[in-house]
Amino acid sequence: MRTAPLLSLVLTAGLLLAGCGHSRGQTQRAGTATDTMSQYDHSHNPYYSHTDTTTLEVPKSEWKKLLPADLYHIAFEQGTERAFTGKYWDFEGIGTYACAVCGNILFQADAKFSSHCGWPSFFQPLRKDALHYHEDRSWGMVRTEVTCGRCSAHLGHVFDDGPKPTGLRYCINSVSLEYLPGK
Ligand SMILES: [Zn+2]
Repeated sequence: MRTAPLLSLVLTAGLLLAGCGHSRGQTQRAGTATDTMSQYDHSHNPYYSHTDTTTLEVPKSEWKKLLPADLYHIAFEQGTERAFTGKYWDFEGIGTYACAVCGNILFQADAKFSSHCGWPSFFQPLRKDALHYHEDRSWGMVRTEVTCGRCSAHLGHVFDDGPKPTGLRYCINSVSLEYLPGK
């Protein structure tokens, strides 16, 4: 039986984005050279801060000028990086993860777990208001989109098949994150 190309695409996307479980207790491959894990030069981004939690209302046109093209695409055009291609999906380092757009601290490395999805996965955010949640009905699925609570950048999605204690799996694009070692 022939499957319509669009349907097949939707099914593939569904499998990619929703179909990965997790394995507790399995050791992730240890990260190396933690001081070189920074992805971006933020010196030209005046909004980037790890301490300022003021909500930002910056037009997309301005972000487009300030951000690298791949980050802008994922953050403000709801893009998704290809699985197993990001910098942090199998990275394990002590510290925190910030929003790569604005520097808002989002996750503690302690809450990261090995999900084998191909994207960095966390079971809880660092602060309740670090993230915002939105219903996402794209690609023929009903999912919960996660955005940055400070700059509203798209980060990824949250699913309810994560490990204890929350049972949640925050599936976040590596491109959207900046790892901060040892904090
Ligand atoms: Zn942000």
